[in-house]
Amino acid sequence: MDFRFTEEEKAFRKEVRDFIEEVFQEVLPSDWLGVDPGPEEETREEVYPLAVEVWRRLGAKGWIGLGWPKEHGGGGDLAKDWILKEELIYQGVPGMDPAVVQGDLILQFGTEEQKSRFIPAIARGEVKYAIGMSEPNVGSDMFALQLKAVEEADCYVLNGQKIWNTGIHQADWCVVYARTDPNAPKKHLGISIFIIDPKSPGITIRQITQMTGLGAFCEVFYDDVRVPKDNLLGEKNKGKDVSMHAFAIERTYGLVILHNARRYFDQLVQYCKETYTNGQPLAKDPVIRNRLAEMAIEIEVGCNMGERINWMTSQNMLTVLPSCQNKIYGARVAQSVASLGMQILGPYGQLDEKSKWAQLGGRMRHMYLSSRAWSLAGGTSEMSRNIIAGRFGLGLPS
Ligand SMILES: Cc1cc2nc3c(=O)[nH]c(=O)nc-3n(C[C@H](O)[C@H](O)[C@H](O)COP(=O)(O)OP(=O)(O)OC[C@H]3O[C@@H](n4cnc5c(N)ncnc54)[C@H](O)[C@@H]3O)c2cc1C
Repeated sequence: MDFRFTEEEKAFRKEVRDFIEEVFQEVLPSDWLGVDPGPEEETREEVYPLAVEVWRRLGAKGWIGLGWPKEHGGGGDLAKDWILKEELIYQGVPGMDPAVVQGDLILQFGTEEQKSRFIPAIARGEVKYAIGMSEPNVGSDMFALQLKAVEEADCYVLNGQKIWNTGIHQADWCVVYARTDPNAPKKHLGISIFIIDPKSPGITIRQITQMTGLGAFCEVFYDDVRVPKDNLLGEKNKGKDVSMHAFAIERTYGLVILHNARRYFDQLVQYCKETYTNGQPLAKDPVIRNRLAEMAIEIEVGCNMGERINWMTSQNMLTVLPSCQNKIYGARVAQSVASLGMQILGPYGQLDEKSKWAQLGGRMRHMYLSSRAWSLAGGTSEMSRNIIAGRFGLGLPS
């Protein structure tokens, strides 16, 4: 195992940093403290146009889908893809979009016609995608989903409801999981996946306010929605294969969570250096020093776990187990960074960005609330522990 970067990769990191510097100069406001990766904070009115512009600039650089195979117009370079993500996430640059993930699915399971119809627009940074998996009674037990898709002569007709579909109200497309065979002998056998235009007639979208105050989550109601047959992704009733691939990608979010937490942590360290109580910088307080040092270890451990997973991926090794471990660990570390930040900021921590007394732009308060989601999104920590306990890990009977 070798974690060292090649000269070419180091040069690429420099190029990415130059790009980010340019984005800071030309796109982002001067007091920018960063946003969490993903579409949630893009629902902020002031962030959305910035994210769209960054996404477009990434497309113009040819950096969207850097990890995609070369034969599909990607960069074919997983290491560079991770360098790019790491830098963007750490700097809190908006525009990290799940379209890349949905692009992965289209490349893996789509027809040639679908690849040429959907992939170029993703690669140019022109379109946004959402994910339509969860339902009011279906989350961890995804294969129990109930949204019905009935085949007709020229289309499928969808009826039912989805929930927690992040950013679908701003998306151009949504990859939706539906039941096409209600009589299948096993529930995972009757599922199919569709690429759906969220503006189709019969779709009603209602935003839900989250505890962060954002309205990124949506309830989506399907009432006789007609989806062309050409938009079926993968084979009918074989949606399980697509789902397993999607779960595998979501499991790798551990490192995403950690690089994001690293930014909040470094801002906190800086705050401790610059903030004085009783004539002494906070950074001289032995308890604070101790807690920060402990936190630094945990972040380092998590990032090293993530780098190992990237290396294993590059060697075509199975990463289910370490990915589950790192996602659980990353969520825990992110939540600990936020808790520590709130303790150090004291009552200031409760103030949001609108208060003139807010410290660190009110971001630690946001992190404290938003980091709760990391142990749920993309598969809960309990479900990941089940995987670790089961056949991929400890071999315990289920
Ligand atoms: C930030 C965020 C973004 C999201 N974005 C999307 C999106 O874009 N599209 C989408 O479709 N969904 C999205 N989701 C929903 C997400 O996929 C679900 O929240 C997740 O799958 C868990 O499902 P649930 O909320 O229904 O909880 P449930 O599955 O009902 O679980 C409730 C609790 O019971 C535990 N539990 C359940 N089953 C077991 C078991 N077998 N063993 C042990 N414990 C168990 C869980 O761990 C959890 O603690 C998002 C969620 C979050 C937090």
